[in-house]
Amino acid sequence: MVRDDFISMNNQYVFNTYGRTPIMLVDGEGSRVRDSAGRQYLDFIAGLAACSLGHGHPGLALAISEQAKRLIHVSNLFYIESQINLARLLVENSFADKVFFCNSGAEANEGAIKLARKYFHDRGEHERYHIITMENSFHGRTLATLAATGQTKYRNGFEPHMPGFLHVPFGDMKALERVVSGATAAVLLEPIQGEGGVRMPPGNFLREIRALCDNWGCLLILDEIQTGMGRTGKLFAYEHFEMKPDIMTLAKGIAGGVPMGALLAIEEVASALVPGTHATTFGGNPLASAAGLTVMQEIISKGFLERVESLGNRLRLRLEELAARHEVIREVRGLGLMQAIDLRRPGAGLAAAMREAGVLVNCTSETVLRFLPPLIVTSEEIDEMVGILDSVLSTWSEG
Ligand SMILES: *Cc1c(COP(=O)(O)O)cnc(C)c1O
Repeated sequence: MVRDDFISMNNQYVFNTYGRTPIMLVDGEGSRVRDSAGRQYLDFIAGLAACSLGHGHPGLALAISEQAKRLIHVSNLFYIESQINLARLLVENSFADKVFFCNSGAEANEGAIKLARKYFHDRGEHERYHIITMENSFHGRTLATLAATGQTKYRNGFEPHMPGFLHVPFGDMKALERVVSGATAAVLLEPIQGEGGVRMPPGNFLREIRALCDNWGCLLILDEIQTGMGRTGKLFAYEHFEMKPDIMTLAKGIAGGVPMGALLAIEEVASALVPGTHATTFGGNPLASAAGLTVMQEIISKGFLERVESLGNRLRLRLEELAARHEVIREVRGLGLMQAIDLRRPGAGLAAAMREAGVLVNCTSETVLRFLPPLIVTSEEIDEMVGILDSVLSTWSEG
């Protein structure tokens, strides 16, 4: 537990915007973290998929400290070597031709929305600014990304919403065909819905959206903020679905926990943002880029993604074995090291019981227990987590 004086000071001085877990993490190594009371936990949250290389990664810590000793920040008034190198690796390993760096997921999506609008504006199609997104999606908390987010619980109270956003059910091609029009600038979606409960796209959904966008001449934006950077066993989730977007956003795992976001696009689209049209003070600064470059080099190193894929398969298999024995598990879903169990009752209590038993895991979308371990998790740690979940479920299901 966190000392009472910390909790009361937090309540006194910090905005009350988070429902916080009553522990304070003070250090970590690999997939394990330790709290201020000295208790160890297996970390299957990994800073919400941000700590891709786990905690205390020697190479990442060295890259950050070496960079901090030279320059932390210079602004984008100057060329930044590590930013250039990271952009090059992202381009060489994706559909994209160009990268714009920013500081968070919401900011990356905000940039994607601006980019889609500007692209059509430059072509004289000034009325073409509608963006179609999915119900149950999550795209961030800024005003534009809130309007894009297809969950009213996040939007309520912040009216008026930014105009131009339409929502259709995730996976419903017919609904999409009904709302797409000559005013559609882009379709924006997560290849796998994360916050919305780790929901997979049905059948050929992503490929059909690609064809629809091609038919209507609109852009396809993939929000890979959670699914990207190796999380699903491929560098980007779209690679599983035999299609490519025109624009993609990244954040979360891109710099191993150092705040960073990125907006990627094909040249024809990226060129719509010329000097003066979009900018950020911190985006891609030397510190964040040094971290991002180290993470990227590690993820594309030989055997890394194959390992994530096989660890993901192991986690999946183990969770399915549990589902066969525990009635309370309705379904196992996910891809790679982004897995979840959907429960027949609200899962917040289960997440708390897991914490008591020494595992950190996140409950999202009411009933969904989401597993997002660092990409460097070991098979032994996966087995250990599943073993603990097995015994916690046995008592929790009776409760
Ligand atoms: C987390 C997340 C965001 C928002 O990222 P922030 O860095 O919190 O702004 C947007 N889209 C998806 C899919 C996410 O998982």
